[in-house]
Amino acid sequence: MSAGSGSASRPRAAARRNPDAFFVLDTRSLGRRPGTMQEFHRTVTTKDRIGLDLIAIPKGSDVELDLRLQAVSEGVLITGTVAASTEGECTRCLEPFTGEVELDLTELFAYPDSATEQTTEDDEVHRLVDDTIDLEPVIIDAIGLELPLQPLCSPDCAGLCAECGVRMAIAGSDHGHEILDPRWAGLAKFATESPGTGGPDAGAADPDH
Ligand SMILES: [Zn+2]
Ligand SMILES: [Zn+2]
Repeated sequence: MSAGSGSASRPRAAARRNPDAFFVLDTRSLGRRPGTMQEFHRTVTTKDRIGLDLIAIPKGSDVELDLRLQAVSEGVLITGTVAASTEGECTRCLEPFTGEVELDLTELFAYPDSATEQTTEDDEVHRLVDDTIDLEPVIIDAIGLELPLQPLCSPDCAGLCAECGVRMAIAGSDHGHEILDPRWAGLAKFATESPGTGGPDAGAADPDH
């Protein structure tokens, strides 16, 4: 950060938030009387992909916020659900697939100059800034924890054939490969080395000569 303006004001408060933008909630109409509650419903279109390498909420998709804001003595408590569609790549069969993610949120956003704000670090408890709440970092963290590190297109995905790599869902359950028993392999080798003893076709001479 550039030259500080003193310990009394935090640099981050200088950047004002637009309450209508994306995941930013305006709490001014809620007031600060502890116990006051407000329902909050909004559909937010993501401006970035949110998630993990192999599964995420795609950029430009809808995230449904179904939340309750509650004024408490130290700040605003957010509870509720966040739901969205996901796109992933199956770690077993490598096929793309779509799904849903829904998570429960419970987050406190501390008032400036509250005891909580004074006694915690920014990364421990979130803060209200200009009476607004920015849910984006909260949602990014929560989605990252909620989504599976090893996503599957279905819980019973049969994956790929270990022998030839074909997707088992396409190949069918009777797909398989003849695994040659080592003892038979030895016999087969013997047969090719001894023409005439392996059977009627083994080492047959060309009848034209
Ligand atoms: Zn799969
Ligand atoms: Zn195969």
